Amino acid sequence: MFADFALHERLLKAVAELNFTEPTPVQREAIPPALAGKDLRVIAQTGSGKTAAFALPLLNRLIGDAEPRVRVRALILLPTRELAQQTLKEMEKFSRYTFIKSMLITGGEGFKEQAAALRKTPDILIGTPGRLIEHLDAGNLRLDEVEVLVLDEADRMLDMGFAEAMERLTGECANRQQTLLFSATTGGAVMREVIGKVLREPLHLMLNRVSELNENTRQQIICADDVAHKERLLHWLLANETYQKAIIFTNTRAQADRIYGRLVAEGVKAFILHGDKEHAERKQAIERLKQGGNKVLVATDVAARGLDVEGLDLVINFDMPRSGDEYVHRIGRTGRAGAEGLAISLICHFDWNLMSSVERYLKQSFERRVIKELKGSYQGPKNVKASGKAAGTKKKKTDKDGKGAKKTAAKKPAKPAAKRKPAAPSGLVSADGMAPLKRRTTEG
Ligand code: AMP
Repeated sequence: MFADFALHERLLKAVAELNFTEPTPVQREAIPPALAGKDLRVIAQTGSGKTAAFALPLLNRLIGDAEPRVRVRALILLPTRELAQQTLKEMEKFSRYTFIKSMLITGGEGFKEQAAALRKTPDILIGTPGRLIEHLDAGNLRLDEVEVLVLDEADRMLDMGFAEAMERLTGECANRQQTLLFSATTGGAVMREVIGKVLREPLHLMLNRVSELNENTRQQIICADDVAHKERLLHWLLANETYQKAIIFTNTRAQADRIYGRLVAEGVKAFILHGDKEHAERKQAIERLKQGGNKVLVATDVAARGLDVEGLDLVINFDMPRSGDEYVHRIGRTGRAGAEGLAISLICHFDWNLMSSVERYLKQSFERRVIKELKGSYQGPKNVKASGKAAGTKKKKTDKDGKGAKKTAAKKPAKPAAKRKPAAPSGLVSADGMAPLKRRTTEG
């Protein structure tokens, strides 16, 4: 129960209104030490409820202090605009019964307007590194009275080349009393270096070990002969699966454009999200998906990072992601906060080895699925059985008879998914035992 945490009643009231009845595992583990002022290093996937895990203790600290506002008191750094916007929205929900003001500072918005708003001194700044540094350089911003620094999706910030910017910004927050670092993965040597530099005697919380991620999301593969065959399979899945909202991942922008073009030509209400798109276009696309105007999103990895859309219950990997971490991030779009999801990867001969290495990384065997009317000649390497010996510890049921995975499959994509039971929360686990797999970024 949230009431068990030593949180201010105004925060508890806001949480109750959001219908958060039980804290998620990351909230259970992180909120008490964060309230006690400890530095934390938390490994938790997106969708685990980690925003509340840092936002509530942060607000609790600011609420308790009646000093007049003269400087920014908390800084939350995130890798992308979309994530920053989502975090602002969450923060505003939690702080609605307080006088605490949060402000967004990201690229793609008017610099002068931001400078003017900064003069009003918000309590909390939520932003992306590049634009924040521009404001620092322009003398619009001082961070020397920041008390709490949050680095969210720190692994992704490093992947995106923000290491130097992160260092500069953490240096500017020299008088901070607490630093909270969140990442979806353990990260590599650079991450270890960052942790050593920015955290003081941190408590390490490893939640949702990669191999236990998304236990409420079924993971399947369907073999394909070539790209054209993948396109037919995609068309079939969108027409026959039961889902509320779907996301289709590609490894390149060109492939995303191609698929989007085909879907639109077929009359599917789809939209596209990738790095080439204008900020306003991206914002509008995400809003339309959230409101249900569009049901299908075609995206590359970076564009969709951290996207939190309720009812996103189908993920299709048109291309196999190039690393286990990227796979985890993609699949993390679905099955969020206890909802059930389905993830399907379309696998040609050139995807197979990658798929097997992701299976080994996750210590799982994906369910092999065949769509009878679209069965191709390629069914994996000759020496590998269709039941998927490749990996591991968690054997999943093979679907050989060509039936859709969901018994309730309907003809139209528009039909809402059947009611699903919430997944049991997973506990605190160590993050060791992850098989090494080369990390790569996959933005197209
Ligand atoms: P996050 O990992 O912070 O992006 O959270 C994912 C989603 O779960 C968001 O839509 C939150 O509003 C929701 N959420 C977070 N904590 C809880 C909770 N304790 N109960 C129900 N939903 C939650």
